[in-house]
Amino acid sequence: MTSTISKTKYEVVIGIEVHAQLKTKTKIFCNCPVDFGADPNTNVCPVCLGMPGVLPVLNKQVVAFAIKTGLALGCEITKHCKFDRKQYFYPDLPKNYQISQYDQPICKGGHLEVNGKVVGIERIHMEEDAGKLVHAGSDRLHGSDYSLVDYNRTGTPLIEIVSKPDIRSAEEARDYAQTLRSILRYLDVCDGNLEEGSMRCDINVSLMPVGSKIYGTRCEIKNVNSFRSVVRAIETEIERQSEILDSGGKIVQETRLFEENSGKTISMRSKEEAHDYRYFPEPDLVPLEIAQSWINEIKETVPELPHQKKLRYPKDYSLSTDDTKILTEDRNMAEYYEAVVRLGANPKKAANWLIGPITAYLKEHRTDIINSHMTPVQLADLIILIEKGTINDNIAKSEILEEVLSTGANPEEIIKQKGLSQITDEGELKSIVKGVLESNPEQLKQLKEGKDKVKGFFVGQVMKKSGGKASPAVVNKLIDELLK
Ligand SMILES: [Zn+2]
Repeated sequence: MTSTISKTKYEVVIGIEVHAQLKTKTKIFCNCPVDFGADPNTNVCPVCLGMPGVLPVLNKQVVAFAIKTGLALGCEITKHCKFDRKQYFYPDLPKNYQISQYDQPICKGGHLEVNGKVVGIERIHMEEDAGKLVHAGSDRLHGSDYSLVDYNRTGTPLIEIVSKPDIRSAEEARDYAQTLRSILRYLDVCDGNLEEGSMRCDINVSLMPVGSKIYGTRCEIKNVNSFRSVVRAIETEIERQSEILDSGGKIVQETRLFEENSGKTISMRSKEEAHDYRYFPEPDLVPLEIAQSWINEIKETVPELPHQKKLRYPKDYSLSTDDTKILTEDRNMAEYYEAVVRLGANPKKAANWLIGPITAYLKEHRTDIINSHMTPVQLADLIILIEKGTINDNIAKSEILEEVLSTGANPEEIIKQKGLSQITDEGELKSIVKGVLESNPEQLKQLKEGKDKVKGFFVGQVMKKSGGKASPAVVNKLIDELLK
């Protein structure tokens, strides 16, 4: 990828604009539902189709979600703000302008901590989404014969979160986007699905000589729809720009498109400046006056965020940073974990169960913890039953867990039904242990000679004979006793 020469010669400067689709029931300026996968042009009305003479009415929930996001990112909430018209002429924008916010965004000046580094947030503003063009027709080589337009997405509420140019590598950019996505999902304002386009990243990349304070000319990369593509797009763009600079050329400010298949960026259009959009205040909407009491109310709904949990888990539950990272990534998982611990399960054991076999099951069945049938009470019971010695670890994993996850049956009922209780009775186990020792004279000889590894073989044999129900601790003890 990037040559080492370029890497030492240039410093990379990256800023990211994230468009997040808000999880409201209806669109930003009309009552049409926000609903993915509906038949084309069914969720539309005269307002979102841009018919003459209609008036937009602002959805209050959009403002609440924007404020909530701003509060979580430490922004100042602008109490007096307004909407502006941004002029575009694209077929997917029926009004020929987009209602957005220009010089008075709802949130200003926040920050996001990414792996211990603070990335500044320039602003957050609200705007409406455009429709979707579907390029159809048969002439693949020379492009489509014609295009279809679906206005269902038109008027879907968006917030645009603009970072300061504080990011310095492709990996840091990916981590920034991942951290931001995690927060948006914790706040329950956006589902963060990059593949479906509900979170879209535009990435500004420029290079400057190492040690310089003056930023180079930047290019904006669009159409980056996975975290992997964030890294790939930036790396190829760094390579492209450094080759131009190395050969004495100049970077042209433009918007470039990332092509998933070739892994290259291609020129899309020369970058518009603000004046190209001919912004002016939206005359059909009154300016917003936001009351402090409403901001306070929204503040109450901001949950404990992943970075706060990351600080707390190692202290409260003695978990490693790696375990903490996995558990706090998703809010449902984190809250599930906390519930299990509150119910009396050992924190480390609960973490191991969730990160290990339960996550494996969820992945295999393409589901998540909230949609599994196992309640926190059941997982806590399972862990406590193992601790009490009612069942052993293996039986819990192989015979009980999957059934609880898939059917929601109680662990204790499964144990009763299947007769899975651990055998701890020494009398009952002693005869099995004796039998196993006697029928394997060769291994017994080795064990007596001090080859401790052979002990595992005998424990395994006893487990097999007992249908996996023997208590390994008791079996180990009995073997030691019988050898004396
Ligand atoms: Zn509508």
